[in-house]
Amino acid sequence: MDKVIIIKYGELSTKKDNINFFLQQLKKNIANSLENYEHNISFDRGRMFIETSASNLDKVINKLKNIFGIHEIIIGYRSKRLDIASIKEDILELIRDLNFKTFKVETKRSDKSYPLKSLEVSKIIGGHILKNKDNISVDVHHPEVLVHIEIRKEEILYYFNSIKGLGGYPVGTQGKGLLMLSGGIDSPVAGYLGIKRGIKIEAIYFESPPHTSEMAKEKVIKLCQVLAKYNSNIKLHIINFTEIQESILKNINYEYLITIMRRMMYRISAIIAHNNKCNIILNGESIGQVASQTLTSMRVINEVVKMPVIRPVACFDKLEIIELAQKIGTFAISTLPYEDCCTVFVPDHPVINPSSKKALEYEALIPYEDLIHQAIKNHVVLNITAEDNNKYQDIL
Ligand code: ATP
Ligand code: MG
Repeated sequence: MDKVIIIKYGELSTKKDNINFFLQQLKKNIANSLENYEHNISFDRGRMFIETSASNLDKVINKLKNIFGIHEIIIGYRSKRLDIASIKEDILELIRDLNFKTFKVETKRSDKSYPLKSLEVSKIIGGHILKNKDNISVDVHHPEVLVHIEIRKEEILYYFNSIKGLGGYPVGTQGKGLLMLSGGIDSPVAGYLGIKRGIKIEAIYFESPPHTSEMAKEKVIKLCQVLAKYNSNIKLHIINFTEIQESILKNINYEYLITIMRRMMYRISAIIAHNNKCNIILNGESIGQVASQTLTSMRVINEVVKMPVIRPVACFDKLEIIELAQKIGTFAISTLPYEDCCTVFVPDHPVINPSSKKALEYEALIPYEDLIHQAIKNHVVLNITAEDNNKYQDIL
């Protein structure tokens, strides 16, 4: 019998005419992720098969656990011996070293010309297992081990319990989005959720040296490395925000500092997104979390851009966001102590119900269009991959 990895698609299988588009992208993403391992991928509408050497199996499975569009990962065994006597033998060989107390056999027959019906095969094989393994029983509701037998045209597939995949859509099937990535807890989680829906993410980070440190930037780079595990690579746009922030600080009523600062971030993000063919902006705003995230603030801040702004964690509680951050591996990095540019300039009492009129009046006090133009002209782009731990390439 040959070992084969079987991939089940989940939500993807609900796609009808365009399912091939999704599956081609999934295949491409898997091939990219497995570029260092010899492998072969084939697929039909129901599942994908990956063959690789036994020595690479664990590493390949670990890679597959980070790929969106995969619902279940299963180690299966292919056999060309189709008669029932051989099935009995093969099954016994496969379960010999498995430790379990309860089991159930489930048979599927895509080859309807096979002489036995699915239920008959399950019964025969179930009985055979009971006879040949001690201290076990059948449990049809909650078996510890589910023995799957799939009878296909020229082969039989055997497999047992599956490993849960990440679900979602293959990255790239929804085009690109620009993630506003601070060093905080929320925005990496927002990025992860965007990637989960198939968006290929680029990221934008606003820094304000010397008010923010190199370490704060390193933190964002590290967060990109984690997100890149799910996204293949991340283009990180770094904007020097110092002049804009200092100008806001010098000229604008302190209550409106954050409102105006965020409007500037949105304006710049929309331009960078447009120039890089991103359809949307994503960020980590969560309703009511801070003054700039009240509904009024969101409306007044959002007004400066036409592009859709998606806020994947808008309706999550902070504790839910933290839980997800821990699960995806960004929490420990996000909670490193370095300040980002918002926290450095945050006033004691920021306005929670800003008005658009006032925001426009204050903005008229600074030459923000020139400052934005300058900041974009000087921006730096890094290409960040999951693997290269300390080498970043300036790709501009
Ligand atoms: P986070 O939301 O990432 O945990 P935070 O809650 O401190 O950090 P806020 O200041 O509330 O962030 O900003 C809300 C959102 O705006 C962030 O989630 C992020 O998407 C974006 N943002 C804030 N600061 C920056 C920055 N320096 N660079 C890029 N995006 C930023
Ligand atoms: Mg936040």
